[in-house]
This record gives sequence, C-alpha cells and structure tokens, in this order.
Amino acid sequence: MSVPEHVLVVGAGLAGLRTVENLRRDGYEGRISLVGAEEHLPYDRPPLSKQFLAGEWERTKVDLCTAEDLDELGVRTHLGRSAVALRPAEDPADGSEVELDDGTVLHADAVVLAVGVTSRVLDDQPDSAHLLRAVDESEQLRDALASASSLLVVGAGFIGAEVASTARDRGVTVTVVETGSVPMARLLGEQAGAVVARLMGDAGVDLRTGVSVSELTDSGATLSDGSTVTADEIVVGVGGMLDLGWLEATGVDVADGIPCDHRGRVDGLPGVWAAGDAAAWTDPDTGERTRLEHWTSASDQAAAVAADITGTTPPPAAVPFFWSDQFGMKIQLVGRPDRADSLLPLHGEGLDDGPVKGTVLGYLRGDDLVAVAGFGAARLVARYRRPLAEGADRAATLELRDSLS
Ligand SMILES: Cc1cc2nc3c(=O)[nH]c(=O)nc-3n(C[C@H](O)[C@H](O)[C@H](O)COP(=O)(O)OP(=O)(O)OC[C@H]3O[C@@H](n4cnc5c(N)ncnc54)[C@H](O)[C@@H]3O)c2cc1C
Repeated sequence: MSVPEHVLVVGAGLAGLRTVENLRRDGYEGRISLVGAEEHLPYDRPPLSKQFLAGEWERTKVDLCTAEDLDELGVRTHLGRSAVALRPAEDPADGSEVELDDGTVLHADAVVLAVGVTSRVLDDQPDSAHLLRAVDESEQLRDALASASSLLVVGAGFIGAEVASTARDRGVTVTVVETGSVPMARLLGEQAGAVVARLMGDAGVDLRTGVSVSELTDSGATLSDGSTVTADEIVVGVGGMLDLGWLEATGVDVADGIPCDHRGRVDGLPGVWAAGDAAAWTDPDTGERTRLEHWTSASDQAAAVAADITGTTPPPAAVPFFWSDQFGMKIQLVGRPDRADSLLPLHGEGLDDGPVKGTVLGYLRGDDLVAVAGFGAARLVARYRRPLAEGADRAATLELRDSLS
C-alpha cells in the first residue's frame, strides 16, 4: 500500500488526536484533516467524572492539546462539524469522500474513523437528568452539585460509581440504583463487583441493586420494587451507545462496532481504518472481535493505525488495561475478565470482608490466567502484566503470587 497524500480523521477525541500525533511521529508528511462533532479541541474524558467534576482541575487541564499544537502538526481542523456520510470510490485507489453536516465534501485517500460512543439514555428521561460524556455535561453537573444536597445515580457502571464517589466527597447524599446484583459487574464480574459495593456502602452511598427505574421525573424516581427516591439532581450513567447510522450506506455491518482486522483496517472498506471506543478489532490469535471502551486501547489502536498507514513498524499488541478511581481507591484491570470462568484470589482480603486496599484477583479461563484486577494495589498488579501477556497458567500465577507475598 502506498503512503496516502491526505489522511482524514473523523472524530477529534483521544483516538483521533493520537492518530494524528502518531502519523507525524512516524514521519508522515502529507495532508491531515481532523473532523470533530464537538466545538472543542480534543480533550480527555477520564477527569470528567473525577478531578474536573470534583472542581479540582481547571478546564485547560482537561485539554489534550492546544490549537498551536495542532498547527505545529500541520492539521487542518473542522470542529463543530459531524461527518454524515462516507462514500468509498469505486476504485479503492481513488480513496473516499466524507460529507459533513454543512454539506462540505472532503476527499481523502485514507480515512480513520475515531468517533467513540454516545451516552445511552432511558426511555422518557427528563431533560433535567444529567449525562456524562462531554466536558460541557461535566461542567453542568459540577455546578449543579455545588448547590445540591442529594443525588440519584442511575447505573452503577464505572462512570456511575465515580460520580457517586465524587459527589460523596463533596458532601452530597447519594443513592445509586443498579439493575444488576452488584456495581461494575460488566467490567469486573460479580465477586469483584461485590467489593465495589462494599466500598460504596462504607462511603455512605445508598446502593439499591436488583431494581430498575420504572419512572424518572425531575425530582427523583420510582423503582421497579415500588420504592421511590427523591433527589435534587439525577445522573443517568447506563453505558455507551454506538452512533454509526451514518455509515450504514457503506454496507458494512456496524451493529457491534466498526469491524476491523488486527491493524484497524475496516472490513470491506479499503483505505478506511477505525480506532477507539467505536472500533471492534480482531484478535489475531483467537480471531475474536472485541470492542473495548478503554482509554489505553483507544491510544494503542491509534498508534497501530498510524503505523499501518505510514508503513512503519506497529507497536507490539498490548494487553487491555482499564482503571477507575473511586472511594479513595484506584481500581485497575489488566486483561480480559469477560473471558474468565473462575476467580483466583491472589492478594489481600477484600473478598473475605477484610480491607479492600491491597486486594488482587486473578481471572482464569480453564487453567489460563486471562485477567487481573487490583484495588489500591498498583505495584502488585504491574507484576502480573508480563505473565498475562505471555499466557501464564494457574501454577505459574500461584508461584508468582507466593514470591510476592
Ligand atoms: C466520564 C468518563 C470517564 C472515563 N474514565 C475512564 C477511566 O478512568 N479509564 C479508562 O480506561 N477509560 C475511561 N473512560 C473511557 C475513555 O475516555 C474512552 O475509552 C476514550 O475517550 C475513547 O476515545 P475515542 O477517541 O474512541 O472516543 P471519544 O474520546 O469519545 O472521541 C470521539 C469523538 O468523536 C466525535 N464524533 C462522533 N461522531 C462523529 C461524527 N460523525 N463526525 C465527527 N465527529 C464525531 C465525538 O463527538 C467525540 O468528540 C471514560 C469515559 C468517560 C465518558
């Protein structure tokens, strides 16, 4: 594949910006355009439920770059503009056209889709309920919490849990409603999720699990068990949602994310790559396709895509990594707990109602270690990264555990 003359990146978030930066780092000298639906320069989302929401960080600290940085990188920006159509040329060598919502049509010989996800909303959700994905939403919630005495959080995924934690730190009474039996079950599984439930309880959060919201109003909710919750402010944190309808005309099935190979090349669309939350990459070893909403995956995939476009050596494939800061604890997750069929307690007593800090859990599939989660145990978790990458089995994991105990 020859190096393209013009790379067009759709989506000016983490994956979009990192693609642009890596293209230049890899020596790409052609034209680069960056299209972003938001008016803002690329900014970082993790602080939006943490330091920025807590009022600890200034707005500029959330930015991933300045306008000058993009100028220096020689990037032409189209901010506040959404891509509404992608039209590949009949001959793949002729590239693709991308149409923007103001009718502008841009032509590029390489297109990178880095469009992330949007927040899922509840049916009949009142306008007064907050969502948390964009910096403007975080700003609104931060200001609202300044005068609120109570908060209802719908959904105990990591965003809901982090918002609950930040609000408790600000002295707000918090109720969290979750349909599952524990918080963060999708990421951590049931047993580790129960540890998060304990953190919430210890911090004074009223956690109601196994119930859903039947009706949400401006002042609270009626739950599926008939109970009611009143609150000054409501946050709905029920997960991310793909917003890829504009790609349907390409004929690519994007129902489970933009399907890509292990280099980020989109199936059936030569000259088009995808990275970040919206992209479903193929694991070259298992052939399995996975879409991860992890900060490090977005960043790693962007580097791999840039390398593939420029024909430079791609970075080695990394083991997935996720972190969350809540209730004074850094929770870290390395690997793929969703592949596990059993749990192997490694360090600490968090699963036995003991102190949560220092708890490290292994996740096994059969005899193989597939993930490790840690609570306030960054140094220990780091020691399991290599064994995870190298495919350690139970015996090797236990040997390492003993050497670290
Ligand atoms: C509140 C919050 C806290 C988080 N905390 C953590 C954390 O602690 N740890 C962790 O690992 N991950 C965390 N994440 C997840 C992490 O931020 C994401 O994985 C990462 O931002 C994904 O990057 P992305 O570039 O794929 O998507 P995004 O950062 O969402 O960027 C996509 C951009 O594309 C734009 N866009 C969408 N459609 C179009 C279109 N058609 N045309 C033009 N532009 C478009 C969007 O407006 C958006 O600006 C958090 C996410 C949120 C929301």
